[in-house]
Amino acid sequence: MIEETQDNQTNNEATPAMGKLKRRAFLQTAGIAAAGAAAGSTLLNVAAAQAQTETAAYPAPPQLSEKPLKPSIFETEGISRKTHEEHFKLYQGYVKKSNELLGKIAAVSRDPKDANQTYSEIRELKVELSFALGGVKNHELYFDILGARSQPAGALLAEINRSFGSPQAWAADLKATGLAARGWVWTAYDYDLQRLMNYIGDTQNTYPIWNATPIVGLDVYEHAYYLDYGTRRADYIDAFLRNLNWNAIAARFALASGPAGTLVTMEK
Ligand code: FE
Repeated sequence: MIEETQDNQTNNEATPAMGKLKRRAFLQTAGIAAAGAAAGSTLLNVAAAQAQTETAAYPAPPQLSEKPLKPSIFETEGISRKTHEEHFKLYQGYVKKSNELLGKIAAVSRDPKDANQTYSEIRELKVELSFALGGVKNHELYFDILGARSQPAGALLAEINRSFGSPQAWAADLKATGLAARGWVWTAYDYDLQRLMNYIGDTQNTYPIWNATPIVGLDVYEHAYYLDYGTRRADYIDAFLRNLNWNAIAARFALASGPAGTLVTMEK
């Protein structure tokens, strides 16, 4: 989870982590202000910051490692072992390409003369990183919540009922959204709407909704079901819904709605 530095309106440091984040944000702001004052210019001196950036080495990004499939995913009824194994190979490709792109982004030119919205190396690398890294994150979510079938319960069931009316209504909305999507559907807790929503995606990186945490990811690319169902996507979605690991989903919901989630919840 990425840490946010957003302050709440009451300025209470609810957790030590929040206080640390605020101090970090202050120090960063103070550093920029000092650079601006030294240059005898405006508070945020872009040119001075640019000069600093050009002389400093860009921090090397972390390299991603593959998360293996949990054995329980092979318990899915209606989604075959062969499908999961082939699907995992695509995920491995996204991990590999993400690492390649992260490495190239560390070394790409940040000279304004080289940056261009029509074509430039930094544009292409960052656009394709969103596809590759989206592929990693989406598939890790998908594989994590399948197998070990169970039922929604507790706080998650209460939130589903509050947001959709019932688990059946949630499932009907997810299925319809999945039939209308070209690549992905996510159930996410949206901190601004303060409810669960089923959001649509056509590829790994289309239509992201910020300030929302996905807790269910449904892959509706043909590779996720063609071996088992041909073009019958609706039957695949029914199988997906029957095989959900609600304990894994509940763990994600607890993280999204717990202390880590409240750090990025906007005050109303
Ligand atoms: Fe996929």
